[in-house]
This record gives sequence, structure tokens and C-alpha cells, in this order.
Amino acid sequence: MKVSRLVFEAVAVAFLVLAPAVTLQAQATDEWRSWNRPVEPFRIAANLWYVGASDITSYLITTGAGHAIVDGGFPETAPQILANVRKLGFEPGDVKLLLASHAHFDHAGGLAELARATGAIVVASAEEAPALERGGRDDFAWGDTLTFPPVTVGRRVADGETIPLGGVSIVAHLTPGHTRGCTSWSLALGEAEPRLHALLMCSVTAPGYRLVGNEKWPGIVEAYEATFGKLATLPCDVFLSNHGFVFDLEGKRRRAAMGLGVARGPAAGGPANPFVDRAGCRAYLEEAEKRFRAELAKQREESAQRP
Ligand SMILES: [Zn+2]
Repeated sequence: MKVSRLVFEAVAVAFLVLAPAVTLQAQATDEWRSWNRPVEPFRIAANLWYVGASDITSYLITTGAGHAIVDGGFPETAPQILANVRKLGFEPGDVKLLLASHAHFDHAGGLAELARATGAIVVASAEEAPALERGGRDDFAWGDTLTFPPVTVGRRVADGETIPLGGVSIVAHLTPGHTRGCTSWSLALGEAEPRLHALLMCSVTAPGYRLVGNEKWPGIVEAYEATFGKLATLPCDVFLSNHGFVFDLEGKRRRAAMGLGVARGPAAGGPANPFVDRAGCRAYLEEAEKRFRAELAKQREESAQRP
């Protein structure tokens, strides 16, 4: 299942664009639906909560001065996210910031509705903001194929910029490749030292992308290379990303639900929180870079063989 999803992510979009067969589209739609099943919200650690769907992630960061939500899922995910925030005992009206990872329909699709329902402002990297405001149109890889309701970005942030919210510092890290302004967010959790650092990693896959001779983005390979280098240096105690399969959301959620240490951790005398997974974070990055390098080598070989 995990492998098939990974493979799917890598090829689905290429199929959609290159082979407009109805059956493939139907398969893709079924797969997307399977990513968007409602799941119970829960606390990941300290003031960081899961409010997303079965695979399409969304996170809630709570503070005494208002809250932040990271990513809005598909348009159909927004009502789930709002219901999950309420289920956890928080008010959508107290959400002040909507942080965007990247302008793809499955992560930014619900932002317009979340902004409308909460009154929060959308925060995104300056590099990603134009694509969010175009609703994903004119994507360098997907063109106008996979669009979503456009959003107004109220605050554009630079690489390394910190967004303070009620004593919590949320840091933007520009990690382009998957999109031009793909943004990973990080924050330190709780008050007890040493504090755990959560990394909400932006997608690093290259689903059907042309890496060699890409006229729309000649620097795409260098962008990915810099991103893999940067992500390897960021603290990643609590490993999270845009898709649940990247960090085994389902398995960790199940272990957490069995009482294996959610919101406690060894310092509090409880077992380890399954979401604290430095090794998993490192292993995923190494694997993703290996896949990227293999795809790049393949495309370079193909381009060398072309007359
Ligand atoms: Zn994406």
C-alpha cells in the first residue's frame, strides 16, 4: 500500500497530463478520495495537533494569543479541518494564521474556505505566493490541469523568517523543487528543555517532472539539490510532512492511540512519543534523494541518447 502510493504519486500526474484516459482519471480520483477520508484529530505533541485527513495533512498550532493552521488540503478537506479544530475544543474564529506549504490542489485547495471561515490571513513564502493567488494555474509542471480556489496571501515571508504567535516562533524554510516556493515550517514545542523541534517538511518528490532541459524552470535540479542539503541540516525531532505516508502517519497514530506516549514522553515518565522520529526523518530524506538522483540519471541518459 505504502509503495503503491509512492509510485502513484510519482506517476499519477504524468498520466493525467499525458494520457487523458478516463479510467486513469477515475483511478486517480479514487486514490485522491482515499487520501481524504475523515480521521479523528489528536495531539501530536505539546501545542501541535493533527487536524487533517487520512493522508492529506493539516496541523493546528495553538497558543494563548490565537492559533495557526498549516495547509488546507483539498477544497473538500476544509470542512473536516474546521470540524476537527472544534472537536479538539478550539474555536475556528481564534485561528489567526493559515500557513501554506505549497500551491498544489491537494494542500492549498481548502485554504480559501478556511480563510473565509476563520478570518485568518494566509502566510506563504514570497516565491510561492503568486501560484497560490493564481489558484495553481500556470504551474511549471502541470499547467492549468490541477487548479484550486485562489487565495489572497496576506503575508509573504522570506527564507529563515520567524513568525511569532503567542510566544511560539514558527520559522519558514524555503525548500524549492516540488514547487518554486515549497516551504517547510519548523517550531520548537513545549517549554521543557531540551525542547523538541517539529519539522513540517514540504514535499520533495518530483511527480512526473522534467528535470533535464526544463525550459520553464532551468534551475530545477539545483533547487532540489540545495533543498536536500538544507533539509538534512534542520532539526527534525518530530517528523511531519504534507502526506501522511511520508512519515507513517497511520502507524504512528495507531501507536499513539494505544497510549504509547502521546503528549508525555520519557521526561514525563511515559513511553516515547511515536511522532518523535529523528531516524525516520533522516531515512526518508536519504531515500527521497536517492529516488531523485535515480530519476535525474535516467532523464540525463535519455536526453543523451536523443539525436
Ligand atoms: Zn504537491
